[in-house]
Amino acid sequence: MTSAPPDLDRLRPAGGKRSGKRDFIVNTFLRQEGHLSADDLVDLIRREDHRISRATVYRTLQWMVDAGIARKVDFGEGRFRFEHSYRHPRHFHLICKSCNQSSEFLSSDIEALIEEIATARNFAARQSVLQIHGTCEACQTGRAPVAEGGTELLFARDALRIAIATERSGLEFYSRAARITRDARGRKIFEKLADEEKEHLGTLEARYRELLQQDPQLESRPTFLFFKGAANGLFAAGAERLANGVDDRQALMIGIKCERGSHRFFKRYGEKFEDSEGKKIFLEFADEERAHLELLIREYRSLVERQSRRRAPKSGKRKTRRQAATFS
Ligand SMILES: [Zn+2]
Ligand SMILES: [Zn+2]
Repeated sequence: MTSAPPDLDRLRPAGGKRSGKRDFIVNTFLRQEGHLSADDLVDLIRREDHRISRATVYRTLQWMVDAGIARKVDFGEGRFRFEHSYRHPRHFHLICKSCNQSSEFLSSDIEALIEEIATARNFAARQSVLQIHGTCEACQTGRAPVAEGGTELLFARDALRIAIATERSGLEFYSRAARITRDARGRKIFEKLADEEKEHLGTLEARYRELLQQDPQLESRPTFLFFKGAANGLFAAGAERLANGVDDRQALMIGIKCERGSHRFFKRYGEKFEDSEGKKIFLEFADEERAHLELLIREYRSLVERQSRRRAPKSGKRKTRRQAATFS
């Protein structure tokens, strides 16, 4: 999945006019991976067309930053570097002092921590930069580095991996819930959800295999997204609680909590990402989790109603309404 080149006309700021030179510079920039200094780009451009001046390249870089095609990064070298910003999510950097290579990663745990700190200090955070300086594995060992390849592919790979891990733990959760639920209708619902998770899992795994065909080395490339205790952890914790022995209502309630947490997680991150395959995967997955959440809430209400009808036929209705209110 090489990212389609951006529509330059759409990205061009108001008043910016068409220029063959500019398009040439932009396209050359977009063909590069990683973090280029302005001088790196000047060298690349002038190798192809020595009539383009240094000043024009500099101006065009600034224009790309304004248009949202490039992002300026400062690795403390006394000069800026530039990286793709189009279809490229915000990320953190590992910077090797020996070979000057920098590699990228994202971590939901770090972002959550930054948010927590900013909130506690009533700080309106606009941008956070995290850089880890040191020596990369290749420079420490002398072994050839595993090339990162395009971040977009890594991003899609890792988004799929976390969605697959979440489906797997969801499947485990619903299979277990179906085994322990005594209420026949509740059991059916859990079985249905387990079947759905199985089907989604198959779809996601097929998509993952498709992705691998685009880059045979994709599986061995470094991790880009670190989502340590993310959504799959929610279902794993839920499944553990089921093992401790719960009644039917509690089982549904645990399912609701897991699905809500999972829906929020994927939606929140999906919305944050730049337009990409990874974003698509997250948002589609968020929708599926939302549908499961709604189904479970309906089932919970129906179970409460059936149970209260059995116990106290007259006051049943009012109780149900009060229970329902806790979900809104
Ligand atoms: Zn290095
Ligand atoms: Zn970067």
